[in-house]
Order: sequence, then structure tokens, then C-alpha cells
Amino acid sequence: MSPTPPINLSVVIPVYNEEGNLPTLFSRLYPVLDALGRSYEIIFTNDGSADRSCELLAVQHAARPDVTRVIEFNANYGQHMAIMAAFERVRGEVIITLDADLQNPPEEIPNLLLKTDAGYDCVGGARQNRQDSAFRRYISQLVNWVRRHMTDIQMTDQGCMLRAYSRTVVDGIIRSGAVNTFIPALAYSLAQKPTEIPVAHEERHAGTSNYSVYRLIRLNFDLITYFTTAPLQIFTIFAMFCSGCSFLLVIVLGARRLYFGPEEGGIFTLFGILFFLISVCMVGIGLIGEYMGRTYQVVRNRARYHVSHILETAE
Ligand code: UDP
Ligand code: MG
Repeated sequence: MSPTPPINLSVVIPVYNEEGNLPTLFSRLYPVLDALGRSYEIIFTNDGSADRSCELLAVQHAARPDVTRVIEFNANYGQHMAIMAAFERVRGEVIITLDADLQNPPEEIPNLLLKTDAGYDCVGGARQNRQDSAFRRYISQLVNWVRRHMTDIQMTDQGCMLRAYSRTVVDGIIRSGAVNTFIPALAYSLAQKPTEIPVAHEERHAGTSNYSVYRLIRLNFDLITYFTTAPLQIFTIFAMFCSGCSFLLVIVLGARRLYFGPEEGGIFTLFGILFFLISVCMVGIGLIGEYMGRTYQVVRNRARYHVSHILETAE
């Protein structure tokens, strides 16, 4: 097989149960990219959708085989693995990621390209007037705060997936072989000249978010644990503080017992302290488990995802 000539732009879109959004996405995205006057490809990864997304993508591939590629997963592996699979196959010099639900307007793509053309290798979108539930926004604020204080990753809006990367950054992401990760943060850590631009944010065009509270917690744990072991260290420091305090308490209680004799009701105070310490231990065990589970996944070295088939571009 002869090597394929490099193209200018690759747009990567993860798709999971987006049948209600795909037709509008196609009708808005392709004209924007056609108008750029650059060579481009769009790679959709169908992340095990149970609805008609797969058929819609196949029809679109048949309609625009010159610029459309579809990677079909056999099951649902999550948004970041869907992006990773596309990254491993991109041909573009610049790579843009986008959500399929039209929360990231495709019309913003030219603005991202202005920055990559100016030499920035990682251009993040910072969502203006974010159109998500208040709950989601609060979670983001909290995680942003934790990430800012515990890791070296400094960005305004880590959750926005409308981003542009240079080929070098994407190659670095692939080489990292990350199993549980958060692509915008990983890209930032590999970039030499990152920047951010404000981007519009729209309400989900159709359907509901694919992130339940449980998936959101898992994703944010991925973000923190991948980039830092600070939670383990903070826990150790806290555990040292607790053991220091309990040591003092034992001395005080012992002295009290010797001077004043047995006290009424003191046992309940002790139980209170004991329960608190046990709960601290449980949090610690859970935290160590999180890190161990992730280490295990890497050591086990199983395939991160399985591709069932690929629809390639045709000239
Ligand atoms: N997505 C995916 N696999 C998943 C969950 C989501 O490929 O397991 C895709 C989804 O189709 C969309 C993007 O990731 O293109 C963002 O998902 P969603 O809109 O549900 O997340 P939110 O905007 O609520 O963060
Ligand atoms: Mg969305």
C-alpha cells in the first residue's frame, strides 16, 4: 500500500447514541470545512451506539466518501477512547476534536485554525455562557479547582472538547499509551505553546447527556489520578496528623483516668473518635484502590478498545 499523502486538517468526532444530532451536525459541519479551502478529513468513531447512529454514519460515508472516515467500535469504551482510536489513524497536520451533539458549534473551527496557523500547538476552547445544568457547572468548578491546585495543568475550561492540536501533540498522546485519561489535560501537558480562545456553547441539540453522575465521578477521577499522586500524599499527611492527635488523646485519657478515676459517658466520646478514624482509613483504602486499579489496568496491558470495522475515505 502506498503511503497516503498528508492532509491539512483532521476533525475527530466521538459518537454515542447521537441519531437525533447527526443530520444537523452533517449539514452544519461539512459546509464550514468545505469553505476553508484546505484538504481535510472527518473521522467519526461510533462508540458502540445502540441507536441508528451507525446507519446514519454509513449513509454519510457513502455521500461524502472523499472526506469521511468511520471507525466502528464493537462496544462502548467511552468518549476519550473513541477520540484516541481516531488519533491513532489521523492523517492531518492539525487535529480538531468536536462533540457530536452540537454543543460545540462547528462554525468556531476557523477561529481555532487562526491560532494553529499562528504557531500554537494546543488551542483550547473556553466555553462562554455554558449551556449545561447548574449541577454540571458546579462539578466542573470544583474539579477545575482541584486540578489547578494539584497538577501542573493550567487551563480555564478543561471540559470543553472543542480543541485543536498539532500533529506532534497528538503523536505524543498516542505514544503515552494512556488507558484512563482525559485527553485535553494530557494534550496540554505535552504542548509547547498552548493557548485558549473563547468559544460559543450551545444547548444539546437533541437527546440527553451520556454522562451519569457515576460516569462523571469516574471521568474526573481519571483526570486527577492520571496527572498526580498528590491525593495519596495529602492523605498520608492527614493520617500522620490524626495519629499524632490520637496519641495525645490516649495520654490525656490515661492521665485523667489516673487522677480522676473512671468517668461517666467517656466511652461515647471514644467511640465517636474511633468511628471518625475508621472512616478516614476507609477513604484511604479507597484512594489507594483507585490508583492500584489504574496500575493494574496498565500492567494487564489489554487492548483499550476493539474496532469492529472501518469505513475509509475513497478518492
Ligand atoms: N460520547 C462517546 N462515548 C460515550 C459518551 C459520550 O463517544 O460513552 C460522545 C458523545 O456522543 C458526544 C461527546 O462524547 O459526542 C460528549 O458526550 P455528551 O454530550 O453526552 O457529554 P456532555 O456534553 O454532557 O459532557
Ligand atoms: Mg454534550
